[in-house]
Amino acid sequence: MQKMTIDEKIGQLNLLTPGGGVATGAVVSSDVETKIKAGNVGGLFGVIGADKIKKAQEIAVNQSRLKIPLLFGSDVIHGHKTTFPIPLGMSCSWDMPLIEKSARIAATEATADGLCWAFSPMVDIARDPRWGRIAEGAGEDAYLGSLIAKAFVRGYQGDDLSKNNTLLSCVKHYALYGAAEAGRDYSTTDMSRIRMYQEYLPPYKAAVEAGVGSVMSSFNEVDGIPATANKFLMTDVLRTQWGFKGFVVTDYTSLNEMMNHGIGDEKGNGDLQAVSALALKAGIDMDMVGEGFLTTLKKSLKEGKVTQKQIDDACRRILEAKYKLGLFSDAFLYTDESRAAREIMTTDTRNAARETATHSFVLLKNNNQTLPLKKTGTIALVGPLANDKRNMLGTWSVSGDWQQSVSVIDGIKNVAGSGLNVIYAKGANISNDSLVIARSNVFGVEIEVDPRSPDQMINEAVDAANKADVVVAVVGEAADMTGEASSMSDIGLQQSQKNLLNALFKTGKPVVIVLFNGRPMTLPWESEHATSILDVWFGGTEAGNAIADVLFGNYNPSGKLTTSFPRSVGQIPIYYNHKNTGRPFKGEKFAKFKSNYLDVENDPLFPFGYGLSYTNFSYGDLSLSKTQINSSETIEAKITVTNTGAYDGEETVQLYIQDLVGTVTRPVKELKGFQKVQLRKGESREVVFKISVNDLKFYNKDLKYVFEPGEFKVYVGTNSRDVKEAKFTLK
Ligand code: BGC
Repeated sequence: MQKMTIDEKIGQLNLLTPGGGVATGAVVSSDVETKIKAGNVGGLFGVIGADKIKKAQEIAVNQSRLKIPLLFGSDVIHGHKTTFPIPLGMSCSWDMPLIEKSARIAATEATADGLCWAFSPMVDIARDPRWGRIAEGAGEDAYLGSLIAKAFVRGYQGDDLSKNNTLLSCVKHYALYGAAEAGRDYSTTDMSRIRMYQEYLPPYKAAVEAGVGSVMSSFNEVDGIPATANKFLMTDVLRTQWGFKGFVVTDYTSLNEMMNHGIGDEKGNGDLQAVSALALKAGIDMDMVGEGFLTTLKKSLKEGKVTQKQIDDACRRILEAKYKLGLFSDAFLYTDESRAAREIMTTDTRNAARETATHSFVLLKNNNQTLPLKKTGTIALVGPLANDKRNMLGTWSVSGDWQQSVSVIDGIKNVAGSGLNVIYAKGANISNDSLVIARSNVFGVEIEVDPRSPDQMINEAVDAANKADVVVAVVGEAADMTGEASSMSDIGLQQSQKNLLNALFKTGKPVVIVLFNGRPMTLPWESEHATSILDVWFGGTEAGNAIADVLFGNYNPSGKLTTSFPRSVGQIPIYYNHKNTGRPFKGEKFAKFKSNYLDVENDPLFPFGYGLSYTNFSYGDLSLSKTQINSSETIEAKITVTNTGAYDGEETVQLYIQDLVGTVTRPVKELKGFQKVQLRKGESREVVFKISVNDLKFYNKDLKYVFEPGEFKVYVGTNSRDVKEAKFTLK
């Protein structure tokens, strides 16, 4: 750093995207090569491939004065080329080793493609399925979200960042991006500090505890100050309270966007220079695409608006990341051009994607044991997503190649073999709404409009149904109906598909819905009439094979929801760990002057933690080893789970705790543990959870993390609603 001029230091704080690759934002950078030579660039993203990255790195290390290597980042979100299920889907596996493995494979592939930095994991708690980015996270719960955050970071970063197959991870979007008002992307968030600490910040903190190397600031404001200028978040919480030692990058032009937010200094200055100074002073180290740092910080330094130390600190943090990655020893550590052919999209990576996908699916309904299907007889395979490769990967698969994905129809043929007769009919377009079609097709034609009329398509599907033993209707959203800037006010199936389902239900044949979705959807009518519903999210490269594995019983579904499915949009936000209120509604029926609605029940259609299996699990009584403990003791909660059905299967046994009285009010229950148990048919197992005061802690009104004596309820069960309970006292 002693050799660096002020311009070179500021240059390190500049992250650009040259365009030409995959655009993930509205603006792309210009004159990138000239800027690299001038030492004005710290890193690039949107450049992918060892050959391309090598060329860009050569410019930096051969043609810039100090030869400082560049960082190369990308949105490696759910896999790199081999695409895993969307993160919301993966979270439903509740399987940390599996999630870690997916991130490990993503890191191997991404580094074989020249990259060293992943803009992942996205850990924003989301309780509003209108928000399209709910697809990118782990759902509504802070405890589970924290475990998943750690698993991703471990998977990407491994145990040594300087290995050529580990990626620097970037936890995002710090903070509270998922609490956008009205579920509209980039919208305002505002919440109490207690809620922030208790329910929204833990996953970011967990990523920091796991050693995440970088953090991305979010687009939204928090407490009236955009995250990118928010010193409370970026310095007080992140660095002082949590001890974060890495660097913070803004989100895409979020620095410049502060001019639209209307934030400025005490003198009323809110131009690019002013907001750039605010960001640096708040604790931001790197400016993504905005070039506010590049173009204004030197002036601000001269005018005394920022200090040399602030610039030095930011520069040092970027350089430290490059050291940790090994780039100062070998700038071409990640650009071995021979790796891609060996390490990307191999049989092993595809098998891992297939396995992960099967574990992410959630069986929402299964009457009369319609599933698993037999590999003989005739099925009518209908619906707009049945013969589709393009939508299998889901949102944010910037390096995924949809042409390599497996469609449902091909998966069924692969898995069921020639003994099954499959009659295919598209039946409907994903949507007939011209606005939805145009706005969902920005990255290519995800919603293909058939030249036939809706009636012709439905008639063909009904004919197929009439000839079949069972109908498999593959319906849902197009890949980019969720993701960034894909908020929806109506989260039900599109009318075109409802019309198709209505006609299919009328045939009287059993209808199995295979649902593609990046968000919880409102499905009260569908779940009343369908025989079975299998939620498959967006399963990634191997989606079709994995779906067939589950439909035909090669894998018995075990996924559990990590977000509540509302009955109607009017219930949003809806989440299991809500407060009781002064007028709690406990009953089945509406009660005047209780906290309920005139026109809909309070509870969700499918609660957090919910998910069926082809077998049944019965729970014995919950017993506690003690009914009173002091703060140094632990309690064992024991329950016997029995597989009473006809298949071997896996159950996720869930532990929830409720603090009945506190100095601040506490949720009706909170997830505090879970265990996955494999049970053969007929087998029983005693599941034991150890509870200590660590599980009873919460943030009090002074934001201290404490436990308080009193009574606690323990709930154990198959989901957040269906539980056995017991009670103990903490002295
Ligand atoms: C998104 C980030 C992403 C970045 C770079 C932004 O629009 O919010 O999640 O990492 O673009 O592609």
